[in-house]
Amino acid sequence: MRLIILGAPGAGKGTQSRFLCEKYGIVQISTGDMLRSAIASGSAVGREAKQVIDAGKLVSDSIIIELVKQRLAKNDTARGFLLDGFPRTVPQANALRDLDFKLNAVVEIHVPHDEIVRRISGRRIHEASGRTYHVDFNPPKVAGVDDISGEQLIQRVDDSETTVRKRLQVYQEQTAPLIDYYSKWSTSGDPAAPKYIAVQGKGDVEAISHSIAEALDSA
Ligand code: AMP
Repeated sequence: MRLIILGAPGAGKGTQSRFLCEKYGIVQISTGDMLRSAIASGSAVGREAKQVIDAGKLVSDSIIIELVKQRLAKNDTARGFLLDGFPRTVPQANALRDLDFKLNAVVEIHVPHDEIVRRISGRRIHEASGRTYHVDFNPPKVAGVDDISGEQLIQRVDDSETTVRKRLQVYQEQTAPLIDYYSKWSTSGDPAAPKYIAVQGKGDVEAISHSIAEALDSA
């Protein structure tokens, strides 16, 4: 199974990706996670990426394409993979197409932008463990503090409301064209084309997982 998960930041790609990877026994390849670990390691790519990410912009296609190529060349992708957060631009989608992997499906999760601003700007993180909370939907027992360690929670710089709005604008301009790219390809009659599956991402997380799985199983 080879999948792409597409959607605006905060649409729930990460959550649905984990569910799908478990269900199909495939690896999750998240370019956002790869960049965050490059930043944590202090590598040259990490230093360059940090400023761009904090500003809500996109890291350059050449860096991202190289990262993904190297990642896809590893053995653990043999049983399949799910790309989460890649491709994010038409040149990235073209580069992936040139790699000639047969993709089964592109799953688009659609969430209205106002809902996304509420979701992301309320997100709080316990940095050491990666545990996440939300000030309204999943608050910690004590405001601003991790339930287990009692340590302070933080807000990621790129989760602030101003940056979220910038990220949504970038999504609209650079990533939303991929909706057309993949939906047109899927109906073009090309046998290599992945199936295009669009789901509404507002509401119960498990119900959303269920409708994605159902669409994939019938693909
Ligand atoms: P994410 O966790 O997927 O929302 O990614 C966090 C940030 O990493 C994004 O806002 C971008 O700045 C950067 N990023 C992640 N994936 C890509 C990509 N495929 N192309 C360009 N920038 C990316």
